[in-house]
Amino acid sequence: MDKLIITVAPTGNVPTKEHNPNVPITPDEIAECVHRCYQKGAAVAHIHARDVEGKPTADPKVFKEIIEKIKAKCNIIIQISTGARAGKTAEERGAALDLKPEMASLATGSSNFPTGMNANSPQLIEYLAKKMLDNNIKPEIEVFDCAMISNAEYFARKGLIKTPMHFNLVMNVPGSIKGTPKNLLHLVESLPRGSTWTVCGIGNKNLQMTSMGLVLGGHVRVGLEDVLEYEKGVPASNEMLVERIVRLAKEFNRKIATPDEAREILGLK
Ligand code: MG
Repeated sequence: MDKLIITVAPTGNVPTKEHNPNVPITPDEIAECVHRCYQKGAAVAHIHARDVEGKPTADPKVFKEIIEKIKAKCNIIIQISTGARAGKTAEERGAALDLKPEMASLATGSSNFPTGMNANSPQLIEYLAKKMLDNNIKPEIEVFDCAMISNAEYFARKGLIKTPMHFNLVMNVPGSIKGTPKNLLHLVESLPRGSTWTVCGIGNKNLQMTSMGLVLGGHVRVGLEDVLEYEKGVPASNEMLVERIVRLAKEFNRKIATPDEAREILGLK
């Protein structure tokens, strides 16, 4: 098995300090938290931006500030979100790609969130994929349901996504694919040969899904974007979640990838 790439998703678009006081919101808080997670073993930071009121934003100025502050502290791989909650149009959602981060998220289909749509039209996917290609940004294909894998293959055949592709299997978003072992195995078996993949599990499926990813030879995403409690009634922190997966990896004799080793595995160099 490859060394384990740990991605930390510290903020997301949904959690607030009221949900969990450990959620980093401002650029300084995000950069400091990412740095601490890097010191504990994270190789990739999946970044969402918030405005001064703490609401999701796709504003490239905010992303720029976060990216500069992280880069001043460590060489962790920065992956920005182009997700559906922060911007309305394709142009808005892709505006921060001009900053040329090493990676960005790309959902290759539509599904539901608990209270809204995860809307990704073919036109929007094509726009974002093309902009990532032009800026030499490696997409992380966000798979909320089975069809997003075959749809990613369709865009790869059109030459808009380079292969081998890297996937994040997003398990257990209410309204999308349920986080069960059988569903995760089905997604993994459906991936095009040669792909790399990571898994995240939302809410109470977090530990089960990420542990399976670890054992199956995939990579793992953890963080408060995906889960707010460490265990029932105990608020998590991003650092605690990274520490837990590092500890589990050691038990399974899986070495942890540094950011540069992750760059090799993901073909970023
Ligand atoms: Mg995200």
